Amino acid sequence: MNWFRKIERGLSRNDKRDMPDGLWRKCDGCGEIIYERVIHRNNWTCIKCGYHFMVSAREYISMLADPGSFTEMDSTIRSVDPLNFRDSKKYTDRLKSAMKKTGLSEAVVTGTCDIGEHPACVAVLDFKFMGGSMASAVGEKVARATKAALEQRRFLVIVSSSGGARMQEGILSLMQLAKTSAWLARYADEGLLYISIMTHPTTGGVTASFAMLGDIIIAEPGALVGFAGPRVIEQTINQELPEGFQRSEFLFDHGMVDMVVPRTKMKKTLVDVFDFFGDIEKQVEEKQKPAILKTPPHIEVRADRGANGPASGNRE
Ligand SMILES: [Zn+2]
Repeated sequence: MNWFRKIERGLSRNDKRDMPDGLWRKCDGCGEIIYERVIHRNNWTCIKCGYHFMVSAREYISMLADPGSFTEMDSTIRSVDPLNFRDSKKYTDRLKSAMKKTGLSEAVVTGTCDIGEHPACVAVLDFKFMGGSMASAVGEKVARATKAALEQRRFLVIVSSSGGARMQEGILSLMQLAKTSAWLARYADEGLLYISIMTHPTTGGVTASFAMLGDIIIAEPGALVGFAGPRVIEQTINQELPEGFQRSEFLFDHGMVDMVVPRTKMKKTLVDVFDFFGDIEKQVEEKQKPAILKTPPHIEVRADRGANGPASGNRE
C-alpha cells in the first residue's frame, strides 16, 4: 500500500509532544517554536521574525559587558516599607516573592564594566522584579551609579524596562525622578556621555526621568515607550491614536528617539559611539597641548605679572 495514503487515512498526527521545560520557546511574534539555546545565542531575539524576548538584568549586562569585566555595586541596597503599605498583599510580601523569583535584591542591577575596552558604568532594570518599578532603592542605586560614572569619568549606560514609579512607596518613589535627574544633570555638566537604552516596555516615571535624559537615546525595535498608556491617552483626548503609536519606530519617526537598534547590534553600536567620542576627547587633548606649548615661556610670565611689571603692585 502506498505509504503516503496510509498516513492520510490511518495515522493521526499528535501535536502534543512532550517538551522538557526550558528547551523550546514559542515566539510571541511569529508563533514559531524555537530551540531556546538558539534564541539565547541570538541575544534573546527570534531568528525568524526578530522579536525581542524579555531578558533579565544580569543577562543584558552579560550581552554588553566585556567578559569578566563586570563588578556589581550596591548589591545590598534594598527597599523598606516606609508606609506599611498593603493592597491585596503586603508590600513586604511582594518584595520577598520578587526577590525569590528573580534572585535580585531590587529591580535594578548596577556596576562598573568595560564595553569594548571603554570604561563604563551600567544600570539595568529588571522587569520581572515588580515590573521594573522605581522604588527608593532603585532610584538610589541609579543615582549612585551615575555618581560613580562621574567620579571615575566613565561612560554611563542605563537600560530601562519599567512600568513606572512603585506606588507602594508613594511620594518617596516619585522623589526618585528628581534625584536621578539631578545626578544626571551633574554628570552632563562634566561633559560626559550618557546613553539611554529603552526596551519593551519603558513607561511612567522612568520615561519621565532618566530614560529620556540620555545624550543618545536608543530603543529596541517594537518597544512600547511612553508616559501614560494608550488607553488613558485615548480617553483623555477623545481621539483614536495612529497605528504604531508609542512604539520605538513611531518615536524615531517623530524625533523622540535617536536610534532604533536591534539587540544583536546593541553592543557594537555602543562601542562605535564610544570609539567616536573617545577619539574626540583625545583629539581635544591633543589640540590643547600644542596650543600651550606654542606660547613662549617669557610671554606667559609677562602676562602673569600684569601690564606694569612685577614691581608695580597693581596686579588685579
Ligand atoms: Zn518570531
